[in-house]
Amino acid sequence: MNILLIGAQGSGKGTQAELLAERYKLKPLASGELLRTAIAEGTATGEQVRPYVERGDLVPDALMIELILDAMRRLQGEQGIILDGFPRTIPQAQALDARLNELGQPLNAVIYLDVPRDLLLDRLAGRYICRAHGHVWNIKTRPPKTQGVCDYDGSELYQRSDDQPEKIAHRLDIFFSETIRLLDYYERQGKLARVNGVSGIEQVNQAITQAIEKLAA
Ligand code: AMP
Repeated sequence: MNILLIGAQGSGKGTQAELLAERYKLKPLASGELLRTAIAEGTATGEQVRPYVERGDLVPDALMIELILDAMRRLQGEQGIILDGFPRTIPQAQALDARLNELGQPLNAVIYLDVPRDLLLDRLAGRYICRAHGHVWNIKTRPPKTQGVCDYDGSELYQRSDDQPEKIAHRLDIFFSETIRLLDYYERQGKLARVNGVSGIEQVNQAITQAIEKLAA
């Protein structure tokens, strides 16, 4: 099974991707995490993408598509994937479809986590992620057991440099002008479910699994 989660920054997408990966034994593929790792490791790709990520701009399609297809190639056939953060544009979605169709493993379900913009801003201000694996915590909605430490792997939690208020606003503008177009794209394929992402983590997770099971049936 291959699943795509679409949601604005702060919609709970990363948290839900972790839970779904565990439930359905899927390999999580988070584009932002891939980019942050490349930047932290100082690879040539990392240096290329760094200015875009730091500004909160989208990395150009050609580069982004190459990166994700390469990561998919390395996982090939092993297990299903759960995509988080890719695609974000129509050309990215078309490239992904082409690749998955080639493999004979198209997307089974696309979930849009619907959260209003004012709530997203509020949530993002409290977001922390772990150094080791990018696990997502929130001082208001999902605090770790020990302050500043990831429950899963004990690594340090930090606030992302692109989670500063003016960068957050810019990234949300891009989401609601560009990425939101993917909803029509996947709706036309009959693969989209819209899930209200405002309630608690467990409730949202239940709504998502129900939607996936309906779409994948
Ligand atoms: P995220 O962690 O998903 O919020 O991504 C962090 C940053 O990485 C974004 O603000 C973009 O600069 C970049 N990025 C992640 N995914 C993509 C994508 N699919 N296309 C273009 N840029 C991306």
